[in-house]
Amino acid sequence: MDEFELINLLTRDLPQTDSVKVGPGDDCAVLDLGLEDRYLLFKTDAVVEGVHFTAEDPPEQIGYKAMARCLSDVAAMAGHPTHALITLALPQEFDPARIEGVYQGLKIAGAPWQVSIVGGETTTNPDRLLLSIALLGTVLKSQCVRRAGARSGDALFVTGELGGSRTGKHLDFRPRLDEARWLAENFPPHAMIDLSDGLAGDLRHLLKASACGAELHARSIPISRAARLLPRTDASAKPPLLAALSDGEDFELLFTLARTKAVALLDAWKKRFPEIRLTCIGKITDTPGLILRDKDGARPLTLHGYTHFKKS
Ligand SMILES: [Mg+2]
Repeated sequence: MDEFELINLLTRDLPQTDSVKVGPGDDCAVLDLGLEDRYLLFKTDAVVEGVHFTAEDPPEQIGYKAMARCLSDVAAMAGHPTHALITLALPQEFDPARIEGVYQGLKIAGAPWQVSIVGGETTTNPDRLLLSIALLGTVLKSQCVRRAGARSGDALFVTGELGGSRTGKHLDFRPRLDEARWLAENFPPHAMIDLSDGLAGDLRHLLKASACGAELHARSIPISRAARLLPRTDASAKPPLLAALSDGEDFELLFTLARTKAVALLDAWKKRFPEIRLTCIGKITDTPGLILRDKDGARPLTLHGYTHFKKS
């Protein structure tokens, strides 16, 4: 059973009241608790030693990553993060300085958006560190962006550059909160997701939620320098385009917008975020499935992104 089959199994029959506007299956849960103009966003995410970081990684970067991953999911809904709870599971024998470093990283990651850390839980776990964050946020009801909502003919955009994040970016990325909120105010996306499992995999999540398909233009995909350089030093590294399509943990935004607004968006983006690339990488189609178009023509892209459990 793979990760997504397991999620389907577990989320088949969960108790939910009318306050749940969006339950499992988006980047955050969306809750209506009676605030006049805002929904609450609710998110949890865990990082585990040996999976998301190594024992040798600097503690501050581990904490930073744990918080920034959650912040990226709030960005994907065009929300604003507000409060976090931290659950820490650690071996009986631990180095207090390491844990202090982890907390330092958590604080640094949330500081630009004044995220309050309001409590948590510590428990033991044999052998390795596990860090789980529960994050609350808010979003204007009129600006909440979901994975569902992409329309046939929409242009498909991605921020930043993709692939090769394992060389360092996965521990040291800035969640695209400011960019997402600017988009929601100025060029409201029809659908949006953050890239954690890889472009091919996360685009499929967006397409499934929106019940449509997409065509990607291979030449347009912004491949990171790391993904381009890796094959030169590591014979086992993926070819750059494959890395950009399938590597996890880019934490960029993938969104769709009416094609007629594409040029105005690109012009305005360049003025507002001159340091960050924004690229149109294809379009939404009404034929389900994912097509990759390159110099040899168009063919179905069967590739999936990163999943935690292998099929057995
Ligand atoms: Mg996400």
